[in-house]
Amino acid sequence: MSLFSKFAPLAAQYRQLEEAGANPFNVSFDSVLSPTEAMIKDRPVLLLGTNNYLGLTYDPAVIAKAVEATELYGTGTTGSRIANGSYDGHKQLERALAGFYNRKHGMVFSTGYQANLGILSTLAGKDDHLILDADSHASIYDGARLGHAQVTRFRHNSPEDLANRLRRLEGTPGDKVIVVEGIYSMLGDTAPLREFAAVKREYANTYLVVDEAHSLGVLGENGRGLAEAAGVEGDVDFVVGTFSKSLGGVGGFCVSDAEGFDILRVVTRPYMFTASLPPGVIAATLEALHQVQTRPGLRRQLSENANRLYNGLAALGFTVGPEPSPVVSTVMPSPEAAFAFWSRLLHAGLYTNVSLPPATPKGLALLRSSVSAAHTSAQIDHAIAMFAEAGRELGLISPARGQKQGETVFVSAK
Ligand code: PMP
Repeated sequence: MSLFSKFAPLAAQYRQLEEAGANPFNVSFDSVLSPTEAMIKDRPVLLLGTNNYLGLTYDPAVIAKAVEATELYGTGTTGSRIANGSYDGHKQLERALAGFYNRKHGMVFSTGYQANLGILSTLAGKDDHLILDADSHASIYDGARLGHAQVTRFRHNSPEDLANRLRRLEGTPGDKVIVVEGIYSMLGDTAPLREFAAVKREYANTYLVVDEAHSLGVLGENGRGLAEAAGVEGDVDFVVGTFSKSLGGVGGFCVSDAEGFDILRVVTRPYMFTASLPPGVIAATLEALHQVQTRPGLRRQLSENANRLYNGLAALGFTVGPEPSPVVSTVMPSPEAAFAFWSRLLHAGLYTNVSLPPATPKGLALLRSSVSAAHTSAQIDHAIAMFAEAGRELGLISPARGQKQGETVFVSAK
């Protein structure tokens, strides 16, 4: 008996993966060479399992800003902003984010995870209701757990179910805060945001939070995300997002027009009781945000690459998510098949991700890929070829290209 005995079954499974030399949850890169290439165990691999959507991690201007700020202001702030002060960069970045989204207020957090923890745990108080899409990211669920609001889940991407839940809560005291994501990180599907916004408009004291973590810099004419693409930014009360995907850094944010927003700085524990972002990260993020606004070609390239991979894998007979997006997941028949496929792909020189329940919807085992604007079409085609070979070898697709083994067509939840 020990503190760790409760983990024994999981530990046994984990050990098995380690012993097989193929543990997707414990990969070390010897070195990373570019947004799309790295070395693992002395062998080159093509990266198809990052969230580096715009490939900005090696952008010379982004790097130069990080270096310059680090030399000027040092490596870290060594404390929280309320206890130890803000640097000019924090405020500049908050102004830049608010300006980008045409909002009055912006607040920067040390991670995207903390942005959700902070915003959701404080916006909705004891007598309020958080109404979450069932497929919400862990940070949204954890934010709900950290706060004191009553939590209701509605069926993933179902405006009808959301309306039902709100109807049932009519007449109850407290505000209602709906939380959805722009692009969902497991299957790459987008929220039916226009319909959600229409539902929200029908109910009093109801607010809409959209987590654009995977859609910032990816969707919308100006890269502001799904709300922009769907033309409903006016219905969104709070936008949450992260710097760790299209912006290539680390950190999170919330922007809003809500009056009195700044009081959140002294009531939001995941903002108050943690060190603020280092100056180099802030400066790099500011430059990356500038590039989102000035290089729309990156978004076009990303979209082209995403379509190429999605269509290529679908044509091979893989069961892919409901719509093309930079997140391209293929549904595996079991976790064991996912591990075997992942391992076979890595052996061939392709790095992807394995995603399993409870992180995935409907208990699916997924082989998750993500595309970057930095991928060349030759790299995408090479990845598809590796999928084809490994898929046939493991019997996941039929030997005749384009024919499905079984009927497992994915039906969109929308
Ligand atoms: N929200 C969503 C929808 C996410 O997918 C993630 C990360 N995968 C986060 C928030 C957390 O962001 P970060 O990793 O920057 O903390």
